[in-house]
Amino acid sequence: MGIRMRVEFMGDDHVDDQNGIDVSVQPSGTGCVECEATSGWWLHLRRCAQCGHIGCCDTSPSQHATAHAQSSGHPIIGSFEPGEDWFWNYADSSFFDGPEMLPPTSHPITQTVPGPAERVPIDWRNHLN
Ligand SMILES: [Zn+2]
Ligand SMILES: [Zn+2]
Repeated sequence: MGIRMRVEFMGDDHVDDQNGIDVSVQPSGTGCVECEATSGWWLHLRRCAQCGHIGCCDTSPSQHATAHAQSSGHPIIGSFEPGEDWFWNYADSSFFDGPEMLPPTSHPITQTVPGPAERVPIDWRNHLN
């Protein structure tokens, strides 16, 4: 719902082929925003294509990327994993190839999966969704 409003606000000059993507926004950091705030951990990271929010994937214990999409109305996420460049559209549940986003386009390659290393429990597999 917020998408259409945003497009109108921005005017025709900034309308992208794909609503919900702003290629000029930096990622919020190298870890899931909410997990960092609550000393949680994640499996894979996703980047909100509209505001840069980094959240954890649906296989992670807390699923913050999807929670962010639902609470914000931002419909598109991209992978924030090294070597991956797919996007996901929550609105129609489809993968697609998106535009080049402002770097960094993934977390540091030295960052562990799952991560962050110091907070991942030994039995982490038992906590996945
Ligand atoms: Zn998280
Ligand atoms: Zn967002």
